[in-house]
Amino acid sequence: MKILVINAGSSSLKYQLIDMKGEKVLAKGICERIGIGGKFTHKTFDGRVITKLVDMPNHSSAFDEVKNALVIGEGKVIDSLSEVSAIGHRVVQGGSKYDRSVLITPQVLKGIDELAALAPLHNKAHVQGINAATAAFGADIPQVAVFDTAFHQTIPPKAYMFAVPYEYYEKYNVRRYGFHGTSHRYVSARCFELLGKPDGKGTKIITCHLGNGSSITAIKDGKVIDTTMGLTPLDGFMMGTRSGAVDPSVILFLMEKEGFSPREMDEILNKKSGMFGISGVSSDDRDIAAAIEQGNRRAKLAWDMRTYEIIKYIGGYITALGGIDAIVFTAGIGENQPRLREEVLEALAYRGAKIDYEKNKAHGQEIEITTPDSTLRAFVIPTNEEIVIARDTMEIINR
Ligand code: ADP
Repeated sequence: MKILVINAGSSSLKYQLIDMKGEKVLAKGICERIGIGGKFTHKTFDGRVITKLVDMPNHSSAFDEVKNALVIGEGKVIDSLSEVSAIGHRVVQGGSKYDRSVLITPQVLKGIDELAALAPLHNKAHVQGINAATAAFGADIPQVAVFDTAFHQTIPPKAYMFAVPYEYYEKYNVRRYGFHGTSHRYVSARCFELLGKPDGKGTKIITCHLGNGSSITAIKDGKVIDTTMGLTPLDGFMMGTRSGAVDPSVILFLMEKEGFSPREMDEILNKKSGMFGISGVSSDDRDIAAAIEQGNRRAKLAWDMRTYEIIKYIGGYITALGGIDAIVFTAGIGENQPRLREEVLEALAYRGAKIDYEKNKAHGQEIEITTPDSTLRAFVIPTNEEIVIARDTMEIINR
């Protein structure tokens, strides 16, 4: 069975075609600059790469490129589109409504559209992606929605409520949802296997997804009890360009002083803050690390602020969990930044964390980075959100 995994953004569409026999990625690629030009990149399992500039006015035209690349020309990996059994879509916001992946029906599509009130850019783009997939592959192909928020739906009200008047929760569903759920789910499941408790029962773990966007999740007995991202992916600790949590009055203060509109303030908090805003160098960790090497003090400040915030969240979560068995690092930074892992684990020496400095040098591979006598175990586990989407899609259509 072959499954097409789609991640549709407002101006981009990423895809992977996965053969579920052996879970082999046959092809993957990205349509960028949809609606404002268009760049298409397609890579096959055996190293063929197609890159071209092509006008893609909307998601349907992006799907046409994907379809064609899969079945004809240099990047061909299947003989006919009928070989694609189903399509799995990443959906950012599932609200309180979806606590698991679902088959997309007209009603579900309406539900995703309605949840756009909470994630306007993302959910609108997902709806466009789903409609474009239907147009490209026909109404009969089963499509499944896999929500970033679903894994976090076990968080109890005391952790998901914000202390603003209750009426706003009732009126607008303002609460913590959490994101990156598919990634936290994947790496936690793998961590449970490594701990020898595949169902997670009896375990207390913390998963750190550290990428451009970052979040940390506390998981007890296999269920999420808290996570750093909130109503939107802006909450938590500082990220590439996002501020993470700040004193809310800082926002009001700046809006008043600078006359920023809500939209302008949103742009500043999401696109101009975080590592970029503090360092003034870049949002990319490699640039930050290079700047620190050259003695850039603001880059070092950004780095130290982030490490400190991560340590604070982990410390709080250890108390919320009532202990800790393992910590997992994943995503671009988590998988590739030994120095950050080292700093975090050194701060956890008081909990019995002993780093294996040699193993911690690893990049992008699954590895235990604490010593055998460490009472707190730490792992690097490369994430794979696409495979979760493909597995869920297969399971739902087989049902
Ligand atoms: P997202 O999926 O949220 O866009 P990623 O998970 O790809 O982000 O993470 C991107 C971050 O990972 C960037 O800050 C980048 O610098 C960092 N990163 C990726 N590879 C490396 C590496 N080899 N060494 C250090 N940092 C890396």
